[in-house]
Amino acid sequence: MGDVTMPIPKDHLETADLVAWLDRFATNVSKAKAHLSELDAATGDADHGANLHRGVVALGDILASKADHGTPGAFLKEVGLTFVGTVGGSSGALYGTIFLRMAATAGLDAQSIDGPTMARALEAAGQGIVDRGRARVGDKTMLDAMAPAASAFAAALDQGADIGAAFAAAAAAAESGAAATASMRARRGKSSYVGEKSIGMVDPGAASVALLIRSAADSISAAN
Ligand code: ADP
Ligand code: MG
Repeated sequence: MGDVTMPIPKDHLETADLVAWLDRFATNVSKAKAHLSELDAATGDADHGANLHRGVVALGDILASKADHGTPGAFLKEVGLTFVGTVGGSSGALYGTIFLRMAATAGLDAQSIDGPTMARALEAAGQGIVDRGRARVGDKTMLDAMAPAASAFAAALDQGADIGAAFAAAAAAAESGAAATASMRARRGKSSYVGEKSIGMVDPGAASVALLIRSAADSISAAN
């Protein structure tokens, strides 16, 4: 009481919160573009940063073109379709799936997303990568950041965390998960073609998903 530094607990997200999240992700992808493509150069075709950057530029145009993005679910769907249409590569379909599954979990009519719904949305996003990419945990893909993020979010929520603190826990888990891909051998996507040589560098998709979840944590704490 009287502690002005205590953030206001966040128990639901509205479309504006999601817009702030994606806006921050766009900024972070722009900054990390070269780094993400460098990671992809080690095992793939050096385009992950450029691919994702195309997606966030297209998203930026949409964010700037109108003020009303509809319900959270409608906005997540628009993000997913934008990524499918502009990112290209395997990651375009997978990023699209992440957002389309979150949209389906949120539903198109609900005016906000509460913590348990967000937990299910993150779980569904991970399942989408499994379904679309045939990836499993440990295959050195974006799933190795997404799956621990979803688990950590749900665990934090169970322990009484609000959505901001749950995303902070999820971001830390996604970053550890991405770091752990360095010692993995790629079993999916273009990186799997280089076999043993894929060991040693962080998977670019895992790195960008960690950035996505970190962007959520940071945009929510900045709004408080
Ligand atoms: P591409 O591999 O087509 O060049 P990107 O370079 O943009 O596409 O994205 C590469 C990332 O996509 C990888 O680092 C990995 O995280 C992810 N990825 C690729 N294929 C799969 C898959 N089958 N399942 C899960 N993730 C995948
Ligand atoms: Mg690539």
